[in-house]
Amino acid sequence: MRLGFLGLGAIGRPMAAHLAGHDLTVWNRTESVARAFADHHDVRRAATPVELAARVEAALTCLPTSAEVQEVMFGPEGVAEGLAPGSLVIDCTSGDPARSRMIGKALAERGVLFVDAPVSGGTNGALAGSLTVMVGGPKKAYARALPILSAFASRVEHVGPLGTGHALKAVNQAVLATNILALGEGLAALVKLGVSGGRAVEVLNASSGRSFVSEQLVPERVLTGEWPKTFRLALLDKDAAIALEVLEGAGVAGPVLHRVSELLHRARAELGEEADYLEAIKLNEREAGVKIRE
Ligand code: NDP
Repeated sequence: MRLGFLGLGAIGRPMAAHLAGHDLTVWNRTESVARAFADHHDVRRAATPVELAARVEAALTCLPTSAEVQEVMFGPEGVAEGLAPGSLVIDCTSGDPARSRMIGKALAERGVLFVDAPVSGGTNGALAGSLTVMVGGPKKAYARALPILSAFASRVEHVGPLGTGHALKAVNQAVLATNILALGEGLAALVKLGVSGGRAVEVLNASSGRSFVSEQLVPERVLTGEWPKTFRLALLDKDAAIALEVLEGAGVAGPVLHRVSELLHRARAELGEEADYLEAIKLNEREAGVKIRE
C-alpha cells in the first residue's frame, strides 16, 4: 500500500520507521529532518504536502495540535488538494475533537475518509511498536486504518464516532498530568521530612497510590536524575486544555482538571517550550528546596 507520513517529530519518527516496509513517502516542515529520515530508511521524501498526497492511498499526520493538521490539510499546497477520492487520512496527533469533526467534514466533501487516531505509550512505545491507538470515526475507515496502525501499535481500539479518539486521549492525559503533579508535590514533602525519594517510591509502589508515573516515569527519569526529553510539557499543557473543552462540552465542571491545567500553564511559562513533561516536578523540588533523587 502507498502510504504517506507527515510530521517527523519526537514520536512521529519512530512511528513512521515501522511503516518503512511499505511504499512510504514522508514530509516534514523542516526539510533536513525528512531528508535524514528518507536517507536512513530508504523511503521517498516529498517537497510539499500536496506532492505527498498525490502519491499515496493513505496519509498519516502526527503534528503538535489540530491547528497544524488543518493547516497542512487545507493550507497552500495542502494534502487535501492532492488526495484522490477514496483515500484515507489517519490523524495520530493528540488533537481536539471539534476541529477534527470540521476536518473530517471538509475531507468527506472530497470523498476522503478521516479518522482521529491519537496514540499512547510514548517514544519508547513507538520504538517498540507497542503503542495503544484510540480511533474515532466511521467503522469503514477504522477497518482500513487498522492494519496500518498495527505496524506501530499492540492495541488499536475503535472507541466511537469522529473526535472520540481525541476525547479519550485528552482524558488520559488529564489523569497522567494529575498523577505527575500530585506525586511531585508529595515526594518533595516526604524528602523534606527525611524519607528518601527512592524509599518513598518503593513503598508507594507496593501501595494503592501507585500509577504508571510512580512505577515507571519517576524511577526512570527523576530518581536517576536523567530527565530525558521525550514529550514536551507544552504538549501536555495543550492536552489538558483539550480535556477541559471535552469536560465542558459534556457539562462536567472538572474542578480538579481546572487546577491541574493552571499548574501546567505555570510550569510551561517557567520552564519553556522545550522542557520535558516530567520537569514539572523540578518546580516542586525548587519550591521545597530539596532534590527527590537520592
Ligand atoms: P514534536 O514537537 O517533537 O514534533 C512536532 C512535529 O510537528 C515536527 O515534525 C514539526 O516539524 C511538526 N510541526 C510543528 N509545527 C508545524 C506546522 N506549523 N506545520 C507543519 N508541521 C509542523 O512533537 P511530538 O512528536 O512529541 O508530538 C506530536 C503529537 O503526538 C502531539 O500531538 C503530541 O501531543 C502527540 N504525542 C506525543 C508523544 C511523545 O511521547 N512525544 C506521546 C503521545 C502523543 P519541524 O521538524 O519542522 O519542527
